[in-house]
Amino acid sequence: MVHHGTVDTVEWLTPTLVRIVLIGPGLSGLRAPEHTDAYVNVAIPPAGAPYAGVFVPAEVRERHDERHWPARRRYSVRDWDGTRLTLDVVVHGDAGVGGPWAASAARGDVLVLEGPGGGYRPDPAADWHLLVGDESALPAIAASLEAVPADSRAVVRLVCDGPDHEVALTCPGELDLTWLHRGGTPEDVELLPHAVEALVFPEGRVQAFVHGEADEIRAIRRHLLTERGLARSDMSCSPYWRRTMTDEAWRRVKRDFVARMDADVESGAA
Ligand SMILES: Cc1cc2nc3c(=O)[nH]c(=O)nc-3n(C[C@H](O)[C@H](O)[C@H](O)COP(=O)(O)OP(=O)(O)OC[C@H]3O[C@@H](n4cnc5c(N)ncnc54)[C@H](O)[C@@H]3O)c2cc1C
Repeated sequence: MVHHGTVDTVEWLTPTLVRIVLIGPGLSGLRAPEHTDAYVNVAIPPAGAPYAGVFVPAEVRERHDERHWPARRRYSVRDWDGTRLTLDVVVHGDAGVGGPWAASAARGDVLVLEGPGGGYRPDPAADWHLLVGDESALPAIAASLEAVPADSRAVVRLVCDGPDHEVALTCPGELDLTWLHRGGTPEDVELLPHAVEALVFPEGRVQAFVHGEADEIRAIRRHLLTERGLARSDMSCSPYWRRTMTDEAWRRVKRDFVARMDADVESGAA
């Protein structure tokens, strides 16, 4: 179902993460997501598009030349209280469509979106929770932490550009949180995988949520399945984006990449 929201507030949470709050009657049909990693697909028209404001993406694709089709980008629902929809968007330099849109968003702008979808929620029956990711996964991880039961423990490893890129997180359960800081070197891609490999796992059944950059997610997933013996059913792993690829390019090869991720562990413990 197609919805639309009007930008109410724009707030920079960190130098590269901007919080957009959308409001308005165009959101009234938006379902309350049951998943804490719920996401919406937003549709952003290219500059010079012969339509504006509220539109139906499928109709635009039928009626207009491909160069005018809106770009689709996926963003997590940080919060939806039935009136206000909160999205936290990474602004990674000047590149892309979604980042620049968010960086220049202003009160009154309209954003067309579809959804929500999703698939993960902390399982109250798990003994502890492992959540790993980068800034793109931070909204889903922040929302998920708020749903971790008070008698449970969450182990969280997040990567960002430095101390001023960290955001406060709350969790009713016990929170073991470490932020890893990139150094601007090729080794940055190993920060999250190494941090997970170095963990001393608490006793009991873990449920894992590992989302973010494709190569990092692949390495962590392989480790969790083959060396830690996690069951696939206890893991939510999603390569949200891929270095050097636009979302369009990534979506074209993502299915093959995910198949290769599965092949990594075909003969493993999982
Ligand atoms: C289910 C799901 C939920 C997501 N939730 C969020 C969310 O809540 N917030 C969020 O910001 N992103 C989220 N993402 C990731 C987001 O959809 C992608 O990062 C998307 O590529 C951003 O689009 P863009 O137009 O800004 O950049 P693109 O045009 O897609 O890419 C341009 C360049 O920027 C690089 N790039 C893309 N994303 C990043 C990044 N995060 N950091 C550094 N470089 C990047 C690309 O590799 C490419 O080189 C989610 C993705 C999925 C699948």
